[in-house]
Amino acid sequence: MKKGTLYLIATPIGNLEDMTFRAINTLKKVDLVAAEDTRHSKKLLQHFNISTPMISLHAFNEAGRVKQLIAQLEEGKSIGIISDAGTPLISDPGYPLVHAAHAAKIPVAPIPGACAAITALCASGLPTDRFIFEGFLPAKKSARLNRLEKLLIEQRSLVFYESPHRIIDMLTDLLSVFGPDRLATIARELTKQFETIRQDNISTLLEWTKENPEQQLGEFVVIVAGTEIETTTSDQEVEKILLILLSELHTKQAASLCSKITGKKKNELYELALKLSEK
Ligand code: SAM
Repeated sequence: MKKGTLYLIATPIGNLEDMTFRAINTLKKVDLVAAEDTRHSKKLLQHFNISTPMISLHAFNEAGRVKQLIAQLEEGKSIGIISDAGTPLISDPGYPLVHAAHAAKIPVAPIPGACAAITALCASGLPTDRFIFEGFLPAKKSARLNRLEKLLIEQRSLVFYESPHRIIDMLTDLLSVFGPDRLATIARELTKQFETIRQDNISTLLEWTKENPEQQLGEFVVIVAGTEIETTTSDQEVEKILLILLSELHTKQAASLCSKITGKKKNELYELALKLSEK
């Protein structure tokens, strides 16, 4: 029996006019739509006169659903995955099912469309030739700082998702790890009525967001420019990194962080930091 196809269907991130013709046609022709939130997606489907049956596929039932959906695909049924907004699997459910589909030699077909990360990046005014997508940072401050510290000497643009209730905390942590002068862009409410895209240094962005409560509402993509320092661990580069860290942190903290970044011994870096501080 011919196996069905698993379609990964992007939907708009705010503006319904961003729905593609292919997305509509594919949602109409599949046997089943696996949606992150069926109540939310019902409105979208109704808007485009799509009456295909839906089943939920979210973070809490994903593991259990895989077997059931793979069985239907094996029987020749076609299934479309959609999330609440944008491209499924991008900080959204779907990965276990796509992984299982490949293992079962079931065809997987992407139907591309909106994605907040790419939409923000191309408008950010920061380098787009090389970037990394970090998704949501951890909710706990210590874990968040830890993740950011690992990115301190990353040269590629860094793309993050953030929610309104954590945006100030996030910008505060960006400031403490990357320093006040690193360029960043906040892309808020993309494609919607209150779309705002602002590039500035991290310290100005934090102040501006704090001073304007309306800038703390909605959905956010935050992009941070990569470092311009070459990622070699030559003595000269280690010194450069240490000097940057010393301008923001105490000697011990700077040496410890530098050791995490470069893999060099903490005590040697502490001695070097003391020497550099004397200069
Ligand atoms: N799959 C989606 C995509 O393709 O972008 C992302 C889903 S993720 C659960 C939701 C996050 O994406 C939001 O918290 C926000 O960080 C970002 N996001 C989604 N829509 C956005 C928009 N219109 N403007 C800015 N950020 C948005």
